[in-house]
Amino acid sequence: MATTEEMRLDGNAVAGLLGEVFAAEMTAAVVRCAHCGTAGAVATAQVYAHGPGVVLRFPGCTGVVMRFARVRGHVVADLHGVGMLSAP
Ligand SMILES: [Zn+2]
Repeated sequence: MATTEEMRLDGNAVAGLLGEVFAAEMTAAVVRCAHCGTAGAVATAQVYAHGPGVVLRFPGCTGVVMRFARVRGHVVADLHGVGMLSAP
């Protein structure tokens, strides 16, 4: 019987799963707000794009769900407000 330690993989093992979630057209994805627990399509978010980054707020509670910024040519995502994300 393999131990939990022996069964552990590294992040490369989920390359396919991550590709399915993040390479999909995500505006139809359903996101559950980590602040209030309500779920809705990403397309319904309130978007504030006039600052140095882009902020998505959940329409019901206006909690910050996602933040994106471009730093030295890389897109940096802060998803701490995402309780669950379901790709279409
Ligand atoms: Zn919320």
